[in-house]
Amino acid sequence: MSGGNRAVAYIKPGEVEVRETDYPVLELRDGPGVAPANVGRKCRHGVILKVLATNICGSDQHMVRGRTTAPEGLILGHEITGEVIEKGPDVEFIDTGDIVSVPFNIACGRCRNCKERKTGICLNVNPARPGAAYGYVDMGGWVGGQAEYVMVPYADFNLLKFPDRDAAREKLLDLTMLSDIFPTGFHGAVTAGTEVGSTVYVAGAGPVGLAAAASAQLLGASVVIVGDLNTQRLDQARSFGCETVDLTLGTLEDHIAQILGVPEVDAAVDAVGFEARAYGKDTDEAPATVLNSLMSVVRAGGKLGIPGLYVTEDPRGVDQDAKSGTLKVRLGLGWAKSHEFTTGQCPVMKYHRGLSEAILHNKVHIAKAVNATVISLDDATRGYAEFDQGASRKYVFNPHGALDGVKAA
Ligand code: NAD
Ligand code: ZN
Ligand code: ZN
Repeated sequence: MSGGNRAVAYIKPGEVEVRETDYPVLELRDGPGVAPANVGRKCRHGVILKVLATNICGSDQHMVRGRTTAPEGLILGHEITGEVIEKGPDVEFIDTGDIVSVPFNIACGRCRNCKERKTGICLNVNPARPGAAYGYVDMGGWVGGQAEYVMVPYADFNLLKFPDRDAAREKLLDLTMLSDIFPTGFHGAVTAGTEVGSTVYVAGAGPVGLAAAASAQLLGASVVIVGDLNTQRLDQARSFGCETVDLTLGTLEDHIAQILGVPEVDAAVDAVGFEARAYGKDTDEAPATVLNSLMSVVRAGGKLGIPGLYVTEDPRGVDQDAKSGTLKVRLGLGWAKSHEFTTGQCPVMKYHRGLSEAILHNKVHIAKAVNATVISLDDATRGYAEFDQGASRKYVFNPHGALDGVKAA
């Protein structure tokens, strides 16, 4: 590596490191995790960003906990907000100096799925399977953005430009949530069928669950109930008006009945995924727990929004089935209740513009809801470790000082 950039690299389970890396070019060069068919791919349609804010995600933790086949040296980071400092010859409508939000999904804008706005499963950016992301295992090998600089392909299509630079800088700590967790939580709430007056249960009080809860409120839910086994995270959910359920105690149905008078909700969101733990104190992992309990508490005819990640390979899965992402899901119950399910990567582009306006006009306070916490790139090891321990924070890196003095709106 020739230098000119610094970035957070995955080393081995439980370990990340800040490394000197290559300054990005408008080409995908070979490196850890780069799909062979993507090596040498020219990106005349790309831009180089100076990264202004970039966040640690629960999705990164799956890799750092050794729960995926992520290779040593993979540069992490798919939640990126930045300033354009160089653009390729084929970029027409984005300019240097623009401050932009990057959807974590990489999308070409030309394929059948992109044309249908299913940008989480673009057909042209990852030779191995539909869908790509920056800094993620099996996602094409696009270099991650927990770095000082990063390259973003198909810039005209992917980027959301903030027209008012000063306003964008002032609200940067909130706007950084547009690259993933705010749209993802919102997508969870929308696909769960949240409407004005809905009662909504959100499983998981991590950043995605808290974003889903704030989104359900924005959509007009009458009651939002958040469940977790981590009491500190439940306190955070209560701080902005959610009801909470401590899943180390009692059954989910009983808790919901106590709050609503019936053991049932209109809509539910799985913001946990395959590392779900069984209910009770000091329990082990039981990957189908959330899916099965959501089917149990959602009304007949209701919907389940499932942003929580489920994998096709899990080297440390609890049993042989879990190692290939095969779970004991009680589909018969969901069938009997005519449930609808929505899974997969959130198509960020569907929501980010509207949610950016909601932030800029103070209709929502997403950085406060998720307890956004600014740290320096050099504190990556601490940030990852604390988040892994269940800190009730959303860690945001500040590689160029753009977040100095910026507060949650
Ligand atoms: P996180 O790990 O910080 O939060 C998960 C929370 O779930 C933790 O607080 C944990 O205590 C809790 N939990 C564990 N078992 C539970 C159970 N049985 N019931 C209720 N809560 C339980 O992660 P995060 O950053 O909030 O992300 C949540 C999930 O969303 C992850 O799987 C992540 O990969 C996924 N994700 C998906 C997308 C997408 O596009 N679909 C985008 C971002 C993140
Ligand atoms: Zn993320
Ligand atoms: Zn596409």
